[in-house]
Amino acid sequence: MTAAGPRLVLATHNRHKLVELREILAPVVPGLAPEDVVGAADVGAEPPVEDGVTFAENALIKARALARATGVVALADDSGLCVDVLGGAPGVFSARWSGSHGDDHANLALLLAQLEDVPDEHRGAQFTCAAALVAPDGYEHVEVGVLRGRLARVARGRNGFGYDPVLVPDEQPAWATGPVTCAELSPQEKNAISHRGHAFRSLAPVVARVLASASG
Ligand code: IMP
Repeated sequence: MTAAGPRLVLATHNRHKLVELREILAPVVPGLAPEDVVGAADVGAEPPVEDGVTFAENALIKARALARATGVVALADDSGLCVDVLGGAPGVFSARWSGSHGDDHANLALLLAQLEDVPDEHRGAQFTCAAALVAPDGYEHVEVGVLRGRLARVARGRNGFGYDPVLVPDEQPAWATGPVTCAELSPQEKNAISHRGHAFRSLAPVVARVLASASG
């Protein structure tokens, strides 16, 4: 952190997301120190109500609230699973598809049951992530990233979270001898192809530009 405080605040309480973001930004933003990028918990910011109906709206709601509360450039993301035959659902309802927020096991079980009769050729789906930047002067920018794949019939793998055990990415690792799910990838393999990685890597040059104009 410089004497003037953090330069960037991310709307998350998850330390892993913070570390991941610093790694994405470091090569693109010259001179950015790890302490320049802090999380919402570090600045004591309360999360706003996410009542948008798109990922971009929810990401902007979170980033706007944080920029307003801190006076610092704020980043936020919102993501979920979009299933082709369900017209893009669960979408923004991904975390609470079964009714109770954050019950990954119940959400996944319900989705598999709903798609039981859907044949393999119609099981296309994607993780989508919107990453938003909001500056205290009101400047806003959103980038969207996707991880395209298809849904397996049974959950496989122990890594990751949420719907990872059922999404088989189109981009498979070189070592795979058969279709592997996102939960069978290492965190590094998942980050390299993930919707969140794509969205934040696209946002990184915008972050660099905004921080450069803020400091200059
Ligand atoms: P959030 O935007 O990180 O809060 O994610 C919302 C919900 O979308 C999560 O609770 C998961 O159900 C789902 N989701 C988002 N990204 C992923 C992912 O990378 N893997 C698995 N599920 C995800």
